[in-house]
Amino acid sequence: GAFSAPQDGVVISRYGKVADVENQQGQIFRCNIRRTLSSIVTGDKVIWRQNIDPLVNSIIEAVHPRHSELVRPDFYDGIKPVAANIDQIMIISAVLPELSLNIIDRYLVACAATDIDPVIVLNKVDLLDSQHLAELTSYLDYYRQLNYRVLLLSCKNEQGLDEFKHTLQNKTSILVGQSGVGKSSIIHQLLPELSAQVNVGDISEMSGLGQHTTTSTRLYHLPSGGNIIDSPGIREFGLWHLEPEQVMQGYPEFYDYLADCQFRDCNHLTDRNCGLQKAAKSGNIASWRLDNYHKILQTMREVKAKTNKS
Ligand code: GDP
Repeated sequence: GAFSAPQDGVVISRYGKVADVENQQGQIFRCNIRRTLSSIVTGDKVIWRQNIDPLVNSIIEAVHPRHSELVRPDFYDGIKPVAANIDQIMIISAVLPELSLNIIDRYLVACAATDIDPVIVLNKVDLLDSQHLAELTSYLDYYRQLNYRVLLLSCKNEQGLDEFKHTLQNKTSILVGQSGVGKSSIIHQLLPELSAQVNVGDISEMSGLGQHTTTSTRLYHLPSGGNIIDSPGIREFGLWHLEPEQVMQGYPEFYDYLADCQFRDCNHLTDRNCGLQKAAKSGNIASWRLDNYHKILQTMREVKAKTNKS
């Protein structure tokens, strides 16, 4: 077949051997992928050529280097990229079913390993009375002191929605968080006309686009500015592919006190004269943060033991 000149585009979604690529005018084209580029994912910036025949797939010929990459453990392939060129990870948490600082810490550890900026979002604040909010504020301020961005949000009464949208502008973001915290509600709030996002007219009829949109990773443009990559597989991304040594990266405030440990290989739990234990006792670091640090390591050990057995 005949192809037009090479041009830049962004991968909106990948379905097995094909991918949908958006050109600079916002039109979407289904493309085959050169065999050597088999790992391309949503968010990749690519060079592609349009097929002159609109009923035949176009082709992706090259991929630009990624500035960031999110990976997921894959049963067959080990660790597999699922999205590229993400600028920030919105860690969605909620006061109901229950605010878990441990889960927030886990996501922060995972984010530290990716080099992508995290933003902590506390959703469902409409359910908080002022006393409850005051209780939470001390925890949230602790994260703010560590230079993490913390936003309060309610999908229900739209409190904090403008600031949330503002934070998403000019960036490509992804939402992560446990089931029930409101991720789908937030996506619907941001993309009221989800189906209109897919410019189906630009794709040849044979493709049947839309069939897979709920199960695969996909990039959406937000009417309020910025892009969201929605990825069912990564929404609750785990930590098992991290090494224990990487956990400390999620605890920047600990670094100053490590030099006070008597033992170089201090376990920060039962060893004598631990700098972190002392700092927690004197209130220089939060003891709940140190507890979470140990809980995360413990979970990693348990997962590892299970994996080795099977
Ligand atoms: P997901 O599993 O993270 O995608 O969570 P959902 O978006 O499905 O939300 C779970 C439940 O929380 C649903 O019943 C939502 O209506 C509710 N919900 C989501 N956001 C809010 C909020 O801001 N306030 C309140 N009160 N409920 C919310």
